[in-house]
Amino acid sequence: MDLPYEVIRSSRRTAIVQVYPGGRIVVRVPERYPQYRIDDLLAFRKTWIARKHAELVNLPTTLVSQPTVTKRYRAYALDLFRLRFDRIIAGAAALDHPYRVDVTALDLPALGYSEGRKPELRIRTMRRRWGSCSAAGIITLNTVLADRSPDLIDYVIAHELCHLRELNHSRRFYDLLTTVMPDWKSRRAILNGRGSELLPER
Ligand SMILES: [Zn+2]
Repeated sequence: MDLPYEVIRSSRRTAIVQVYPGGRIVVRVPERYPQYRIDDLLAFRKTWIARKHAELVNLPTTLVSQPTVTKRYRAYALDLFRLRFDRIIAGAAALDHPYRVDVTALDLPALGYSEGRKPELRIRTMRRRWGSCSAAGIITLNTVLADRSPDLIDYVIAHELCHLRELNHSRRFYDLLTTVMPDWKSRRAILNGRGSELLPER
């Protein structure tokens, strides 16, 4: 299996696979369960795991709390997202090491985008996801993401921008995301409430 997974051994009698919001895959097995049987189980459940993973990978590990989103907050969020978005599209963020976002690999001109025709950005308050990208190339960000630090907003934008090329969560999609943003995994972990502290910058 291409996707990373964790094995947790315990006194249980059966083996199961679980996929969590955020994309964590856990195989729970009895104490002395051999690796070849884990491999068999993963191979047998491959389609299900891939489908669940794609469904859950970009969801927060905890439900995004729903503050009352005022008109002013929406305007602030949209301004902030536009700023990050335009900066990433322009490739300016590529210079900003270590939080670099290099969109060269997306080849936006080949997708029909230019300085005058950027991908469309919208905001919406969503319960279970940070962002989405439609087949028509409309990128929607969760309004409450505006409360997170800029490098995390950039991660969600980079993720959605990669969907302009790969509208799925395939290996190719992740390879592309890694090219665009080498440290996306740690950003995702922080965004989803794991890993280290949030960067204090606001
Ligand atoms: Zn996605």
